[in-house]
Amino acid sequence: MKELNRKRILVTGGAGFLGSHLCERLVALGHDVLCVDNFYTGSKRNVAHLLDNANFELMRHDVTFPLYVEVDEIYNLACPASPVHYQHDPVQTTKTSVHGAINMLGLAKRVRAKLLQASTSEVYGDARRHPQTEDYWGHVNPIGPRSCYDEGKRCAETLCMDYMRQHGLDIRIARIFNTYGPRMHPRDGRVISNFVMQALAGEPLTVYGDGSQTRCFCYVDDLIDALVLLMSRATPPDGPVNIGNPQEISMLDTARRVIAAARSISEIAFAPLPVDDPCRRCPSIERARVLLGWSPHTSFDAGLNATIAYFQREIASADPGGLLVSTAAAAATTNRAETQVCKVSSS
Ligand code: NAD
Ligand code: UDP
Ligand code: UDP
Repeated sequence: MKELNRKRILVTGGAGFLGSHLCERLVALGHDVLCVDNFYTGSKRNVAHLLDNANFELMRHDVTFPLYVEVDEIYNLACPASPVHYQHDPVQTTKTSVHGAINMLGLAKRVRAKLLQASTSEVYGDARRHPQTEDYWGHVNPIGPRSCYDEGKRCAETLCMDYMRQHGLDIRIARIFNTYGPRMHPRDGRVISNFVMQALAGEPLTVYGDGSQTRCFCYVDDLIDALVLLMSRATPPDGPVNIGNPQEISMLDTARRVIAAARSISEIAFAPLPVDDPCRRCPSIERARVLLGWSPHTSFDAGLNATIAYFQREIASADPGGLLVSTAAAAATTNRAETQVCKVSSS
């Protein structure tokens, strides 16, 4: 890459699921990448293959503390993303979103770097409008067990917009919808990792509630394409951009698709729905299409096959029995209502 185009790029949360794919992509594009992570949910293993590359550097650091480095671009991804993980230490989750954003925005301000904030579809909460467009303000419980994440990310968006208006920073906000693929943590409690691990173990797949709640699943490679496009746009878009795959699927159908893709003998078991679990979630990606010329192209079957192959390799390389007995424990730690069932409206 010509020196002129080569950038020094900071990726916070770079040792996590999405961050490790992003670091890999940016290094492949010829950039100089500084990966910062406190390994709360990520691991060195996710970036071990990059450590020999002269353009890659790994630093253990918690973004709730100031960071003084010289960079041209910042991708701020640091934050646990699985409900089980972010509810484990909710105060730390809010600190990571809010103090982390302040520190990264302060850094961006000092060195005049561009910053891309990894926001989330959770800013829409248990949405009352479908599909969700960026101008929808959401329906969020500010005091529930998911609030640390939802409100933390909403506050981070507020900070981004205020640093942009007040200090003239160049900010891009990606509202990321459910993403899956290789390097998801096998025990993170998210639905795709739970279902795949359960299917491979021949255990029942734990569908929460009656399984009518929906999500849209974006394959990680498609998501990374969008993040890089969003950052490389000449001018910042006027506000956040949804990034996700608009194909909506119920959790019951997701379980059936995973069982079929894994050629599993597993059955389906129903368990209580987590408190405040959004009933329906689906992105409108019109803005991403128009502003970035982007739309996802990986089919759910192709993405699932790649993810299943990854988990099979993980199981084969783990301690005997280590990974396959874990998903029930992960499932057990989410806050769940005993009787709640999603009422999916079609508006
Ligand atoms: P992940 O848990 O795999 O990665 C998060 C990374 O951040 C981990 O490596 C973790 O160790 C690190 N981290 C956490 N707290 C930190 C701190 N205080 N200081 C430094 N590092 C810290 O999750 P992910 O799925 O890769 O998500 C990455 C980002 O994308 C998050 O900001 C998340 O909110 C956002 N996001 C992800 C999804 C998704 O479906 N994967 C959806 C919406 C938004
Ligand atoms: N900060 C940082 N790295 C920098 C510059 C700032 O981590 O290179 C942090 C620092 O902790 C600071 C925060 O970013 O408190 C916000 O910075 P800003 O300049 O907006 O505000 P102030 O320094 O006045 O608090
Ligand atoms: N879910 C499920 N079984 C599981 C894990 C999750 O049915 O083992 C459901 C969960 O209740 C939610 C959806 O799958 O409706 C997506 O959950 P996930 O934790 O992956 O992400 P969320 O979109 O809720 O943040």
